[in-house]
Amino acid sequence: MDCLFCKIAAGDIPSRKIYEDDRVVAFHDVAPQAPVHFLVIPRQHISRLTDLTEDDRTLVGHIAYTAQRLAAELGCDEGFRLVMNCNELGGQTVFHIHMHVLGQRQLHWPPG
Ligand code: 5GP
Repeated sequence: MDCLFCKIAAGDIPSRKIYEDDRVVAFHDVAPQAPVHFLVIPRQHISRLTDLTEDDRTLVGHIAYTAQRLAAELGCDEGFRLVMNCNELGGQTVFHIHMHVLGQRQLHWPPG
């Protein structure tokens, strides 16, 4: 499968990895939008949030749990934001689901 994030998860394309286990990989975003900006992805290829099945619920929980734990480890104690973009209108550009973690600056609402 020709998927950028599958290749990053497999180590075939280099990334600044923060954490990995049997289900997820976390790595710094190549174009950070905040002093801390990393992505948590499943190893399993899922193109978009709308492709999730009931069986994926535990996996998504593990992604969110890992995201907040790493945010704390990277010094985002005062707050951070988790974002998952879905499809073109939602701003998704890489079609392998991922959770953005942004922190260490004041974030505003609504996002652009
Ligand atoms: P999306 O727009 O799909 O929600 O987010 C995709 C994210 O992946 C963007 O923030 C973009 O900067 C990041 N990204 C795209 N290509 C690469 C890459 O090759 N390496 C890393 N580390 N991040 C990437």
